[in-house]
Amino acid sequence: MCVQAGYQPGKGEPRQMPIVQSTTFKYETSLQMGRLFDLEEEGYFYTRLQNPTNDRVAARIAALEGGVAAMLTSSGQAANFFACLNICQAGDHIVSAAGIYGGTFNLLGTTFRKMGIEVTFVDQEASEEEIAAAFRPNTKLLFGETISNPGVKVLDIEKFARIAHSHGVPLVVDNTFATPINCRPFEFGADIVTHSTTKYMDGHGTSVGGAIVDSGNFDWEAHAERFPGLTTPDESYHGIVYTQRFGKLAYITKATSQLMRDLGSIQSPQNAFYLNLGLQTLHLRMPATCENARKIAAFLHDDPRVAWINYPDLPDDSQHQLQQKYLPNGSCGVMAFGLKGGRDFSIRFMDSLRLISIATHVADCHSCVLHPASHTHRQLTDEQLEEAGISPDLIRLSVGIEDADDLIDDIRQAIEVAEAGR
Ligand SMILES: *Cc1c(COP(=O)(O)O)cnc(C)c1O
Repeated sequence: MCVQAGYQPGKGEPRQMPIVQSTTFKYETSLQMGRLFDLEEEGYFYTRLQNPTNDRVAARIAALEGGVAAMLTSSGQAANFFACLNICQAGDHIVSAAGIYGGTFNLLGTTFRKMGIEVTFVDQEASEEEIAAAFRPNTKLLFGETISNPGVKVLDIEKFARIAHSHGVPLVVDNTFATPINCRPFEFGADIVTHSTTKYMDGHGTSVGGAIVDSGNFDWEAHAERFPGLTTPDESYHGIVYTQRFGKLAYITKATSQLMRDLGSIQSPQNAFYLNLGLQTLHLRMPATCENARKIAAFLHDDPRVAWINYPDLPDDSQHQLQQKYLPNGSCGVMAFGLKGGRDFSIRFMDSLRLISIATHVADCHSCVLHPASHTHRQLTDEQLEEAGISPDLIRLSVGIEDADDLIDDIRQAIEVAEAGR
């Protein structure tokens, strides 16, 4: 599927999925064009709404996740924004795991709040009763990450799905870190999956992008009064009712034809092309990444200068049981650890690395480190940091696909340099 799903060339057509780098598409009659605008007919007319390259790459990602349809967005942020806004509006409410990616935490907690959408953050390890207590009559979705960034906690997807479904709302899962190679959240009851394709899917650090995939499993009609955007006429499309006209494709069709039309956060076809090159080796890179990460986690785990390490694949990790259930082939290349000596020692350590770079990025073929308290999460108060499960000495290490021994040598020498400067 990584190599071939979503694009089967015909006779004499390009073997590699081509870039259709065109804003517009030509028609013979004005009636043909009009029918496209009415969503009476399928076809391309303007790349902000749809483009053949983007659609093929989206179809590949939908196949990988086992969903019915997908759309690409300009970034992972746009993917989570659209995934929520497609079923939420001012006056609505979202329940979300607290320990999520900082960008998503801000999107939900700050920007959505300004837009009149309230969000309650919950501890994903709390009991079903405690999480259920956060729900309100106007709650429209439950949100979590398969593997949280940067806490590396594994979501109990089945538990979250049970809670969401018992309140008549879908479970939206950001599957960026696991990728469908290591976990397919739909198999455990998630309804919508989002991705920052910027990470492993692209895999080479070339292009910012995102994707939303719909399982097609959530029954919007059964909760029609809660999701009027999908189940009542859209006046901006001559009164189309998405669920009636498009069935299982209602959610993605609305997101492309309405939100993308109005908000315009498309992925460029050029970037979709790069994303596709990444996808074509995703099934090779994920196992290689996890194999490296397991070796490095084992080294850190056994080194007396390391105060603590979180990596779900380690047998004594608090997340290990969940990893065994949801990510049996390995979680991802990202781990978090703290060095004895605390915050300053951690900074000296990072500054001494030679091969592993300091980068505001994770989850591609290059190994890198980040110190969330002074980088990605620097706008959070200490209290919010605690709430998000991030301690001040936390170093996030994203292991790439370099040689594992070279990476371990680099970590070892950087600890020694940091110690010499103590
Ligand atoms: C990076 C990331 C995002 C945001 O994606 P961008 O492509 O940077 O906009 C969202 N969720 C997770 C889990 C991420 O790691």
